[in-house]
Amino acid sequence: MALISDTTTPSLPAPRGGRFTPMLAFLVAVALVCVAAFVLSYRYFQSEEFSKAQGRLSLYQSTVVAELERFSHLTFVLSQDPFVRDVAAGGSTDALNQRLAEFADRAGIDAIYLMDRSGQTISASNAGTPTTFLGQNYGFRPYFQDALNGTQGRFYGIGATTGLPGYFIADAVRDDTGAVRAVIALKIDLSKLAEAWRSSGEAVFLSNRDGVVILASDPAWQYRVMQALPPDQRASIDAARQFRGQPLDPLDWVASGGALARLDGQEWLHLQSGDLPHDWALHFLTSTEPARARAWLVTASLALLGGASFIAMQIMRSRRMGVALRKSEQEEAALRAANDRLAVEIEERRAAERQLHHAQGELERTSRLAALGQLAASVTHELGQPIAAMRNQVAAAEIGQKVESPFAAKIGGLVDRMEGITRQLKFFARSETEPFRRFDLRDAVQAAITLLAPNVEHGPVTLRFEAPAEAVEMRGVQLRIEQVLTNLLRNAIDAAEGADRTDVTVTLGATEGTGWINVHDTGPGFGDLTLEDLQEPFFTTRESGRGMGLGLAISASIVKDHGGRMTAQSTQDAGTTFRLEFPLTPDLSA
Ligand code: ADP
Repeated sequence: MALISDTTTPSLPAPRGGRFTPMLAFLVAVALVCVAAFVLSYRYFQSEEFSKAQGRLSLYQSTVVAELERFSHLTFVLSQDPFVRDVAAGGSTDALNQRLAEFADRAGIDAIYLMDRSGQTISASNAGTPTTFLGQNYGFRPYFQDALNGTQGRFYGIGATTGLPGYFIADAVRDDTGAVRAVIALKIDLSKLAEAWRSSGEAVFLSNRDGVVILASDPAWQYRVMQALPPDQRASIDAARQFRGQPLDPLDWVASGGALARLDGQEWLHLQSGDLPHDWALHFLTSTEPARARAWLVTASLALLGGASFIAMQIMRSRRMGVALRKSEQEEAALRAANDRLAVEIEERRAAERQLHHAQGELERTSRLAALGQLAASVTHELGQPIAAMRNQVAAAEIGQKVESPFAAKIGGLVDRMEGITRQLKFFARSETEPFRRFDLRDAVQAAITLLAPNVEHGPVTLRFEAPAEAVEMRGVQLRIEQVLTNLLRNAIDAAEGADRTDVTVTLGATEGTGWINVHDTGPGFGDLTLEDLQEPFFTTRESGRGMGLGLAISASIVKDHGGRMTAQSTQDAGTTFRLEFPLTPDLSA
């Protein structure tokens, strides 16, 4: 039905594509949240690592300080020892060597040794060993100089004799007058500290004032400098033979700002403690990897959560769309049903209009026929008398004449025609209802044919009648039906007369309670006119005097009185067929 318009398109969510959709916005938001989460959590975990590292650093610092201070008083105590003072005053060294060896052994000190004022070692705990200090001169060492000058000397360096690194502490040995007679020194091995750092798996190193790494958990860092040394600084280090034989190459070290630094290409969280003797600095390095890994974990969890919510949103969205689609389908179906109902109603109204129109036409026709009836009654009444008088006059004139007058015959003919006209008009003026009787339609057709036989006999037309063997009985006024058939036959014969083929065929039959008669002629037909037009009273195409145009009007009226139907079909090639249909009597005994 064309009434359904495009406005029934379902009201689905707006189409997407090429626009900044909520979905895209959501994804961008998730991405931003993930970036923020990474940055914040990385900072957080880094600060956690930082405070952990601070704890470790202060622990290491205290162990370093403890290690350095452990024997800080021993040199002073030894400088007061009578054996030491005796040797310093020039006594025999044998007993002292033994004594120092025992001290060193008990305290776990590398070496204890006594130097004279020139720096020459005169007694040593390692006397008799291949790398004994005895006889060696350490006058160039800063710790010796300091002690000689009356202050405690301290120094870290690679042993000039052993080649092993150590921490040196020295104090002056004075005589009773307070004059410095000798210097007593000891050497502590700090490498155990570095070993402890290494075994803990942590990255720690200790640098001196010059930035030289003097102890490190990674041996590769030891004796490297944090920044390249200026030449004069390098010269003074060489003069003290502090790092004899070491090239002191710079470390691959970059402080990247804040607490971060790069060492050997790796990024480290770097903490430094400067609260150590000799301006030493203890460095604690911890990898940024764990903090980064944990930040990634947090970010991945968030991204996972975002992804899960995205999928959930998609599922919900498709469900919502499904519901909307179903709803719109239902609405469309309801609309279609309403449209169909409307179409039916419109069709019913059109049919009613057609019926009304037809009824109006019928009414007009009926009123015209009623007017015609009145006219016909007065005309037939008024003309009846003069026509009768004329017939009498003609008859009287004929009787009085011996020779037959052609004039009287002509007048007689005219009177006959006038009577014929008034007879036809009388049909419209009739008021009585004639009684219906049962009759055979075959008889009615036959009677009409017989009546018209004189017209056919001398003309070119061939008239055929095809009828069933059994009777086709209906109830009605046989004479009236004959009148209808006479009209139709006369019209058919007239139409066929001028044509090439001059056949008129009457066929009679009965189908499902209806009796029908077809009157077919091979005439030219009635063109574009309709049966309605033809059966208008006084419609005729004949020349004046040949027809009055009342035949079909009368016939239609009779057919209607019998509850029948008259139809007509006309084509130029196939001729014209008038068809009559009458309801057959169901109870023939009635
Ligand atoms: P009349 O025969 O007096 O003219 P009718 O009412 O019988 O009046 O017919 C009216 C008109 O219908 C005729 O003048 C003719 O034009 C047309 N007509 C009727 N029957 C036929 C037919 N079989 N073939 C062609 N035209 C016909």
